[in-house]
Formats: sequence, C-alpha cells, structure tokens
Amino acid sequence: MSAMPATEAVTGQTLDVIPLGGLGEFGLNMLLVVWDDTGILIDAGAMFPGPQLPGVDLIVPDLTYLQERVGRLAAVVLTHGHEDHIGALPHVWPLLDGPVYGTPLTLALVAPKLAECGLEPEDRLCEVTPGDTVTVGEMTLEFIRVTHSMPDCVAVAVHTPAGVIVHTGDYKFDQTPLDGQPMDLSRFAELGRIGVLALFGDSTNIARPGFTPSEVAVVEGLEQVFGSATGKIVVALFSSSLHRIQIVVDLADQSDRKVAFAGRGVIQNTQIARQLGLLRLPAGLQIQDTEVGDYPARDVVCVVTGSQGEPRAALSRIATDDHRHVRLESDDVVVLSARAIPGNGRAIGRMMNHVAQRGATVIHGGRSPVHVSGHGSAEELKLMLSLVRPRYFVPIHGEYRYLAEHAGVGARVNGGRTTVLLAEDGDVIRLAPGDGRIEKRVATGRVCFDATRTGEVSDGVLRDRRNLATGGVVVPVIAMNRLEGRVEGTPTVRTRGLVMDEQTETLLAQLPQVLADLITKASPEERTDGRGLTERVRVESQRLFRTRVGRRPLVLPVIIEV
Ligand SMILES: [Zn+2]
Ligand SMILES: [Zn+2]
Repeated sequence: MSAMPATEAVTGQTLDVIPLGGLGEFGLNMLLVVWDDTGILIDAGAMFPGPQLPGVDLIVPDLTYLQERVGRLAAVVLTHGHEDHIGALPHVWPLLDGPVYGTPLTLALVAPKLAECGLEPEDRLCEVTPGDTVTVGEMTLEFIRVTHSMPDCVAVAVHTPAGVIVHTGDYKFDQTPLDGQPMDLSRFAELGRIGVLALFGDSTNIARPGFTPSEVAVVEGLEQVFGSATGKIVVALFSSSLHRIQIVVDLADQSDRKVAFAGRGVIQNTQIARQLGLLRLPAGLQIQDTEVGDYPARDVVCVVTGSQGEPRAALSRIATDDHRHVRLESDDVVVLSARAIPGNGRAIGRMMNHVAQRGATVIHGGRSPVHVSGHGSAEELKLMLSLVRPRYFVPIHGEYRYLAEHAGVGARVNGGRTTVLLAEDGDVIRLAPGDGRIEKRVATGRVCFDATRTGEVSDGVLRDRRNLATGGVVVPVIAMNRLEGRVEGTPTVRTRGLVMDEQTETLLAQLPQVLADLITKASPEERTDGRGLTERVRVESQRLFRTRVGRRPLVLPVIIEV
C-alpha cells in the first residue's frame, strides 16, 4: 500500500471511536469506528463469567447504543480468533449489513459459532491475508501481521479521510515465531513515518517488565517433561493455543509418543487448523482418545482442555476418574500449559488435588517455563508506541489499572508528542473535526446468556439466583376468598435452604398471622387485586427477614383464590 498521508478533515465530518467493551475489563473487546455515517466494528468479543454469575454461560456487550444511534454496520473486522474478540459475533450479526473481514483461521473459528446460532453466513465471511486492503465507504482497512499465541493474527489500520487509526489487536513481538510468520514491524514503522492519528493498543501485560519470551521458550520446558516422564503425559491448555499444540505434537513425534486430543475445543480447533495447513501432524501420529488405553502409558501424550479447572472439561473429568477413555496412573504427568485466569485459582487447586490423589504429578512451572504469555510486556508496548508515533494514544484491552499504567507509559515514550486519551467503555472519542478529545459517555453494559446461548439472563434473574444461593427460598401460601376478599384459614409458610436458628424459627412461627393481618388491614380494592397483594406479601416478608434475622431469602408468595 502506498503512502496515504494523514490529512486533516476539512469538511467538518466527524470521526468517532467508541469502545463498547474491553476498556475496563478483560474480555468483551469491541471498538466502534464511525466516520461520517459509516460504522464499522473492530472485534466482537465475549467474556466468560465467574462463579458470581450463577447459571450464566456467556457475556456479550450491550448493543443498544449501536442499534439506536448508529444503526446498521457496514463491516465487522476481526483481529484474531480468540473468544474475547469473536464470541459476540452472532449477537452483532443482525445489525450487520456488510461483510465480516478476518484471516482464514479467524473465519474458520467463527463459522461454527454462527452455525450454532442458526445463522447462514453465505458469502459474507470475507477472507483477508496480512498486507491486504479493503474499502468500506470512504475508509480503507489494512491488515498487518502480528504475533500472538495463535497463528493468523492481525492488527488493523483504518485509513479515514481524517487520518489513520491503528488498532494493534493482541500481540507480542515474537522474533522467532513458531510458524515462521514474523510480525510486520516495518509496516508499523512506515505508518509511523507517514503519520498516524491515533493508536489503540493492547494493555494486557503492561504491568510485566521487560519482554515476553518467544513461544519457542516453552520448547525447553516441555522437552524436560518429555525427557523424564515414564508414564503418560497430559498437557492441558487453551484450545486456541495452536502454537503450543504444535510444540507438543513435534515433541511427541520426536519421542515416539502417540498424540490423543480430548475435549471438544481441542478436537475442533486442531481439525480446523489442520485443514488450513496451520498444524503439522505427521501421518500415524494421532490416535483417538478411545484408543489411549490400548497403548503403554509411556507411548502416549494427551492434549486436553480444562486448564482452568472447568468442571465439565476433559482435564477435570480425567482428574476425578470420570473420563470415559483416559485414566490417570501413578507415573503420569499433568502439565498445566496455560496461565491461571484470575478467579479460577480455587477450581484449579481443587483439580490439582484430584490429580495428586491419583498419584500423578502436576507441572505448571519450574526452571524452564511450560507456558509463556501471548501478550507483549512493558518494553514491547513501548516499542509499539515508538514505531507508530501516534498523535493520540488510547490504551485498550484491559482492566482500568492496566489502561491507566499504559496511559502513563504512552505519555512518556514519544517525548510528549503523543496525547493520551484514557477512555472507558462508552466514551465517545472524537478524533475529528478539531483536536482529539473524549466528548461524552453513552450507555454501555453487558448482556448475560445461559447455556442455550440465546436465553438472556436478566439482572432480576441474577439477583434472585444470588438470593437463592445465599438465603434460600420462602414460600408463603395464602388462600383468599375471592368474592368476599378475605383470608381463608391461616396462611402456611414453606421454606427451602434456610438456616434455622431461634430468631428465624420465631419469625416463621409468627409470619402466617402477620401476613393474614396485613391482608385484613388492606383496603377492599387491594384485597381483590391479586398481583398487588402478592407484591405486598413479598415486600413485607422480605423486610421482616432482613430486619429481624438479617437474611435475604427469595420470597415467592402463592395466593390461591378459593
Ligand atoms: Zn488474543
Ligand atoms: Zn484478547
């Protein structure tokens, strides 16, 4: 692509960039770019919930603002195939008029997600390769190769009439990439020389000093495991860590072990990567997980999902001897080749206990690493700023403290020539006309879905579930004479999951009469209004539990008309 100078907008048209997710949290990466009246989305990420959101399977950004204020999207651009960048695409799909641009691997990972939701991509998934450019309205999108923990990742340069925006995607400066596909450093430098209006940069590892080691650093650590293990080797990793899977496959080949994949994600992703030629798997090396028991333990390595202690994933099942085909024996070695996502520590610890109970050994670090990050550390993030030399810098992809730290670094790197705009989700970053600034904040949020991925879990549902989990449930049952509007007999109160102490028992003994009196004292209109009565009984019961015994059970009044 030839030089495309960063010209000033002379027309008064606006260039707005609005993060709808990913700024202030880990996950939900979604950046809306609006030039004049053309909107494009860079990434459409999801997030996986922790135990504080019971029964929630998937979280995606709230798209109400996009829908109401911007309308239809002209294109979606995906930087790479991680869930925190593609997981919300099925939810964005109904708002999209144009294509989805991504590299072959990214789109291959996207396709089954759309299919799961019954969406037909037809010809709208448009493959791009690094170095390609495509035009969307008055904008030109350019894809630049970056290195990360999986193949086929890109940064995106958006050439607009008001200047160039560079979005780094997720990256580290891996100078010895496993797939031999180096990061296109010279293009970042070239854009820097031509002039970049704004850089949006990954902040994940800003708090780590120095440089993140190359993926090949893991080879040595895993070699030691392969060299010393006398039993089966089970390597647990993120199913998207295809570079890591390649390393394990290569070591298995060298040490005459068969490779079995276990866990839906690993099986699916390795299949996709093989079809695209992104995973080299010599013929005869792979066996099915059903065949693991047919081979001596020392001749097998299993690559499995469940490095985070997810209870239904392969590793947890293997650890609790609940896997249909893979059993742990005392000489076996389990390698956790992934970082522990904050919040998962207890689940991982529990799983490691189970592995130890089977007599197997867990390896998750040592003199040589069995895992390295896919995100650049502080010096790499500085290098990106030095290469791109943007007029404005917006830290993205991270919790607020990391964005703030990245902002501090951004202000120092280019000798004060870069202005930092420290933004959060919903901030309208106006880059033209006039000076770059944060204009206002629009409403953003999150939408939670249950295991069906289509059933929305509302705030009310979550509140009820929390109350159920912590306070149990109280069901007052009241019979009402419909004609006369009076209570028949004495109400009964049933409970489940309630801790019984003296105060609670006293309250439960008094509650039927209290509720009967409450209804008797109500006006005749109230007494014949079924819904109003239910609400009064609920509110009063909750108040009594809160004030008299300090508990917040879920109260579900049942009013029977007789
Ligand atoms: Zn990523
Ligand atoms: Zn990411």
